[in-house]
Amino acid sequence: MQRTEYPLLSPSLGSQKTLVAFHFGVAGAGPKVYIQASLHAEELPGMLVAHHLRERLEAAERAGHFRGEVILVPAANPIGLSQRLDHRAMGRFEFDTAQNFNRHYPDMAAAVLEAALPIMGNDAGANVDTVRRLVGQWLTQWQPASELESLRRQLLLLSHDADLVLDLHCDTEAVMHLYSEEACWAPFEPLARLLGCRAVLLARESGGGPFDERLSGLWWQLAAALKNAGVTAPLPQACASTTVELRGEADVSHKLARQDAQAIEAFLLHAGVLGGQPTPNLPPMACEPTPLAGSQTLRSPVPGVLVFLARPGDRLSVGDVVAEVIDPTAGSARVHAVRAEVQGVFYAAVRERYIVAGGEVGKIAGPTPFRSGDLLGA
Ligand SMILES: [Zn+2]
Repeated sequence: MQRTEYPLLSPSLGSQKTLVAFHFGVAGAGPKVYIQASLHAEELPGMLVAHHLRERLEAAERAGHFRGEVILVPAANPIGLSQRLDHRAMGRFEFDTAQNFNRHYPDMAAAVLEAALPIMGNDAGANVDTVRRLVGQWLTQWQPASELESLRRQLLLLSHDADLVLDLHCDTEAVMHLYSEEACWAPFEPLARLLGCRAVLLARESGGGPFDERLSGLWWQLAAALKNAGVTAPLPQACASTTVELRGEADVSHKLARQDAQAIEAFLLHAGVLGGQPTPNLPPMACEPTPLAGSQTLRSPVPGVLVFLARPGDRLSVGDVVAEVIDPTAGSARVHAVRAEVQGVFYAAVRERYIVAGGEVGKIAGPTPFRSGDLLGA
């Protein structure tokens, strides 16, 4: 294992942050997996999973079990980790730009299209190598204008040529779930089983340029753009990436993190990155995948005290009361019921128990698409 520190752009005199990555295995020997945690810096379960996974990967390396390569970035957002306001962590949006740390990643398919057009051939594997080289060159020449851009560039430099990418997040209060593009579902079905996902949310493209989708979207979007330009060269889906939501923000415990690290190690065995021991049996799926466009974000039209009647993990029917919003100051007491408008698993709830008009209550994984446009929240 090699530990490497990557300096970010210094935004101010006397200030210099670094990103730390652990490199396991041998580059080019087999599949490459990139795993990062806590890109939203207050989402800490992944950081603890990375701590336990690192021990397991070090042991696998000592035992000679590596058949490929793993890059593990246990704290992917040193900028967000340092942001605090009123004694609270503020790791989702950068203070300087108000940008979400997991949006606005560059469209690498568009960036390399022109260079790729004349040099694609008939060999799919060679085309993958060519595209990875072009993307690597494009990232290398990218001159970041800010500390935030330098973070995005460094994360992509480490991950752009990976076969599998796991971006470890969590929700506020939630059960285990994951997001992925439809093109990536088959390689991640074993991971969903091993982690015991209670919801799997698939989209063709969520929008907004999140980290995971820029890496997997590169391939199907570039393949479509080549086809549109009349180039028939084969270009497979060379990267599958997923955002794993490791339950809720408070679910930081050794018991859960060890369990999740073990599941990820088992996934690495399934993916052929690790060998030297029997591939573990896959447990049954704990849910059916549903479209992200079918996920209902529950909102309250009125302000008040938020009291949940349902808990994350509950299976709801249309009309079930998820929560009540209570105005204790009204002349006659007002209790507003927030009801499920789709059936499915109530997979995430907000943390705060006071809600403003239009505020978000939680999310239900419904089976039927009904949304369009940008599918991710703020
Ligand atoms: Zn997140």
